[in-house]
Amino acid sequence: MNTGDSDIERWFSDRQAQLARRREVCARKRWFETEAEARAAALWDRTQFGEKLTCYRCDECGGWHLTGAGKRS
Ligand SMILES: [Zn+2]
Repeated sequence: MNTGDSDIERWFSDRQAQLARRREVCARKRWFETEAEARAAALWDRTQFGEKLTCYRCDECGGWHLTGAGKRS
């Protein structure tokens, strides 16, 4: 009846798939629910391995990740 609905459905499933892929990428990174957890982990790595890591809020998953200064994590 209404072809507009299937367009929306397609758009929606494409978007869901895109989000799922992004979350997959995020899942491979170290993930933290709060900034405090991320900061604690960054501090731990710094004291244990001398790695200087910075935490950042991820727009994709809404969680926190760590990123190395200068080098790839
Ligand atoms: Zn993320």
